[in-house]
Amino acid sequence: MEFISELHTHSRYAGACSDRLTLQSMDAIAREKGIGIMGTADFSHPEWFKEIKKSMEPQGNGLYKLKGSSSGVNFILSNEVCTIYPKVKGGKAGVFDRTGNVAKIHHGILVPDIETIEQVNEALAKFGSLSIDGRPQLSMTAAELVETIHGINERSTVFPAHAWTPWFGVFGSMGGFDSLEQAYEDQAKRIYAIETGLSADPAMFWRLSKLDKYSVISSGDAHSLPKLGREATVFEFGEGELSYGSIVGAMKDRKVKYTIEFYPEEGKYHYDGHRRCNISLSPQEAARYNGICPVCRKKLTLGVLHRVEELADREEGKRPDGAKPFVHTVPLNEIIASVSGKGVYTQYVYAAYARFIERFGTEFNVLLWAKIEDIAKVDAKVAEAIDNVRHDRASIKPGYDGVFGVIDVLKASAQEQGAKSSYGQRTIGGF
Ligand SMILES: [Zn+2]
Ligand SMILES: [Zn+2]
Repeated sequence: MEFISELHTHSRYAGACSDRLTLQSMDAIAREKGIGIMGTADFSHPEWFKEIKKSMEPQGNGLYKLKGSSSGVNFILSNEVCTIYPKVKGGKAGVFDRTGNVAKIHHGILVPDIETIEQVNEALAKFGSLSIDGRPQLSMTAAELVETIHGINERSTVFPAHAWTPWFGVFGSMGGFDSLEQAYEDQAKRIYAIETGLSADPAMFWRLSKLDKYSVISSGDAHSLPKLGREATVFEFGEGELSYGSIVGAMKDRKVKYTIEFYPEEGKYHYDGHRRCNISLSPQEAARYNGICPVCRKKLTLGVLHRVEELADREEGKRPDGAKPFVHTVPLNEIIASVSGKGVYTQYVYAAYARFIERFGTEFNVLLWAKIEDIAKVDAKVAEAIDNVRHDRASIKPGYDGVFGVIDVLKASAQEQGAKSSYGQRTIGGF
């Protein structure tokens, strides 16, 4: 049986996150979307952790369910933290990023039980305040984090979150490192999986042979309910085999089934550019300007694609042995909004979305599996758009320097019209 998982998400206690993110609403939305394994998020935040303890019921397999809920959604205890190593005199070698600055990296954490969280939180509190933000900032190195978490319970796991984002990604252009070994030092051996982030997809990982040994996972990193599951990792387990151990085991043994991906061009940091100067450039174009903004003459914010090109040792389009497939998708509410010309958060879109859920059970069923002709019976334009998305035929203006890309789900892509797309053969990862 397939399980769609959302392993990295946030609560209402994390910075810039919606007040409506409660465990109850996350449970309900996960069911509606078809997410079978849902991260609790932010388990280090004292108030949120109290809610987790009060509302969650252990299932005896390292996963939890919301008390009194019949959703069938399994919760996994999850968190995201930011390690910042202070630049002190005589600091340890290797903890400064390649720009010589203080290394700031975001990491996802999964643990198998509440007792482990108690100990993890006690340990992490020595490195920073856990109550300021659901995503705490900790004055420690990435290696110290892994050592601490793993030392408390070796069944816990840490993974680099949104590995390519410019500022907090382990490979980011504005900080970051060239390898996991530089970032995690001797603890790199305990890293099994790397999260793509919205601006990257697995085909971009395939360009680096040194990443072949890792599982590639995807998460929505949502700051509001509608964005839950905009990216996801799919596992397959036999009858009765679902457990915390089987999820982490699949990550360890590269047995993720496939990932569900945002179009990387839609992410906020795909291309290079300057938001204030309204400048967006492909890595090749940015190179022609020597990485300098033609408007303000300051350094461009280099995007994910740029970093991939910089580190790549394999051509575009080559798929390494054992690489898992992936599918691109666009959230259903955005598709409805786009084809109807209405805003995403309008009554019209809510009502249309509800009609689809009523008819097809879950959002992922509509996006990935339902027959196009059945979708067309509800809305012909939505059906056409979903068909385009399933075949990677949508047209996209890439995101840059914090500006989301713009997708037109009804317009055929430049690639389709014979020109070269911003990222080559996008369909290669599809089924
Ligand atoms: Zn993050
Ligand atoms: Zn500029």
